[in-house]
Amino acid sequence: MKNLLSPWQFTKLKSDLRRRFEALRETVHQHLLKSDEERARLFADRAGDLEDQSVTELLIDVDRAEISREFDELRDIEAALARLRHQTYAVCLSCNTPIPYDRLAAYPTAKRCLRCQAAYEDAHGSRMQR
Ligand SMILES: [Zn+2]
Repeated sequence: MKNLLSPWQFTKLKSDLRRRFEALRETVHQHLLKSDEERARLFADRAGDLEDQSVTELLIDVDRAEISREFDELRDIEAALARLRHQTYAVCLSCNTPIPYDRLAAYPTAKRCLRCQAAYEDAHGSRMQR
């Protein structure tokens, strides 16, 4: 089924997604730079101290979790932009009905309508963003 978006809604969502993608890519970039600096400083300040070694590892783990979330979102946005190009955007992956603009305005990377997303999360036992 085809989506029900008007041309301006379509354009608006596309530019929102692009802007978010650019902003997020910059955040990830800064994040990677910053975590490198912090790690280097920790090592330089307290080289050889075993206890601080674990602090450094903890910091690396925290960064990884955060950066991996950011990468997940980048991938989601990329997938949404691909659906836009292939005219499958704004149509529910599960039931093939159009996803309303209100939902997309709040969550432009939505793959499913609210009903199917809830069913999907129940089936997979996860609480993802809607
Ligand atoms: Zn659906």
